[in-house]
Amino acid sequence: MHERIDIEGISVSPDHFIDGKRVGSPTTFETRCPFDWPRKLADVARGDAATADLAAQAASAAFPGWAALTAAQRGVYLHRLADLIEANVEQLALIECLDMGMLLESLRLRVILRGAANFRNYADLASAHEERVWSSRGTANRVIRSPAGPALIITPWNAPFMLSTWKCAPALAAGNTVILKPADWSPLSASLLADLIEQAGFPPGVFNIVQGLGTELGNALTGDPRIKRISFTGSVPTARVIGKAAAENIVPFTAELGGKSPLLVFADADLDAAARKAAGQYDDSGQVCMAGTRIIVEESVSEAFLERFHAYTDAHVMGDSRDPATTMSALIHPVHAARVLGFIDRARTAGDTIVRGGKRWKDDGNWIEPTLIAPRDNASEVVQNEVFGPVLTFQTFKDEAEGIALANSTAYGLSGIVYTGSAERAERVGRAVRGGTVWVNTFLIRDLTAPFGGIGISGIGREGGDYALDFHSDLKTLQILEGSVRSSQ
Ligand code: NAD
Repeated sequence: MHERIDIEGISVSPDHFIDGKRVGSPTTFETRCPFDWPRKLADVARGDAATADLAAQAASAAFPGWAALTAAQRGVYLHRLADLIEANVEQLALIECLDMGMLLESLRLRVILRGAANFRNYADLASAHEERVWSSRGTANRVIRSPAGPALIITPWNAPFMLSTWKCAPALAAGNTVILKPADWSPLSASLLADLIEQAGFPPGVFNIVQGLGTELGNALTGDPRIKRISFTGSVPTARVIGKAAAENIVPFTAELGGKSPLLVFADADLDAAARKAAGQYDDSGQVCMAGTRIIVEESVSEAFLERFHAYTDAHVMGDSRDPATTMSALIHPVHAARVLGFIDRARTAGDTIVRGGKRWKDDGNWIEPTLIAPRDNASEVVQNEVFGPVLTFQTFKDEAEGIALANSTAYGLSGIVYTGSAERAERVGRAVRGGTVWVNTFLIRDLTAPFGGIGISGIGREGGDYALDFHSDLKTLQILEGSVRSSQ
């Protein structure tokens, strides 16, 4: 075990949380602050195959007891955890801000509270579940949901707390025990979550959190036959690797992956609102899977749109994420910043037009200027591949059919944003745009009971609401011949 670390007055354990206890590892990895690079925040326990084995053992041993509780009984723990998250918003927000770089104000006011809502929502949803019952061909039928077993949850670095809670809550509510592996670039909020799990009094082994690299710890976990569900959010290449491990053990697997979503603006739209939302896609430096990164505007209003878009983009402020004046966070890591700059350089070399930005904001630090690129054609790499940085593309269309065709012209299909003032067009284009979620005249508002996921290479399966509870359950059809049994009571 390692000593707890003091980070700006907040005590953070660098260790794993397995079977209700802190557990160390012989080696560590570093986590640093994106907007104060290279300030080191912590040396975090670097899990390995032995860590994976310990976690799988704990989650398996705790499973029968947790599964035997009713959904309402499990809900008591989930609500208690939600209460604790609400009571610790300030600490969670500051640690997430320092570790991932997301803006502090947004974390304090919105993002962390959404984590609490995730646990509440699933506690209530699982408790309210009624089995489907019907009669067919002389038999009484019912669909029974049974907990599936230990679930492995693997999350990315870009919204660590929100995504981890979003994915762990349905697994726990459904009666599965959980092993959460957060990403190694932003692991610290998960460690604070482990403290709250302990305070909430979860039985040991029900909710485990392990830290480490994907290629070491992640690999060992996905290959463990004691894991009965894998729920992954991250990149397409990693999903391919994890999918193979899931296939080896015949384990159900959901994958929420990258996006290259269109932001489609029609001439009949509120142009000012559309331009403001388009400039808002730079907020987290574009490190948002659902971001509308391909701006596609009807030709007749493209100049008027661009004028407004530039004005809103000019108002962005880069800087310390703790400063309320900052509107654009730094990129998570120099390696990621270099990757983003690589996309811009290749676009420039290939003949795409850099309309604005295209370089670092200053020589030191992980900021890249908000960048807009007009591609030479739709096949351009920067149009077809996810950049995951402050890089948007700009294209125009002459009519609705062309706009929809451009919107649907990548291998991704995570989401879409449409701006129009016409109800008929909203319905028509909303249905036609390929994506697991399509917003009209808004963005990112989500009802937690709605299905969420991607089409094409943006993912497999759906999470959210009952969809996630079904994924985390074994569904059984029980059929009893009608009239063949009598109640003894
Ligand atoms: P990543 O795929 O590199 O890593 C994601 C997680 O997988 C990390 O915890 C990592 O340690 C782990 N991992 C890596 N290799 C592994 C292996 N071989 N076995 C097991 N685990 C392994 O992704 P990232 O760079 O952390 O995140 C960015 C990506 O996530 C982007 O593509 C983004 O669009 C996507 N994302 C999608 C959503 C969504 O809901 N669809 C949400 C957020 C981010």
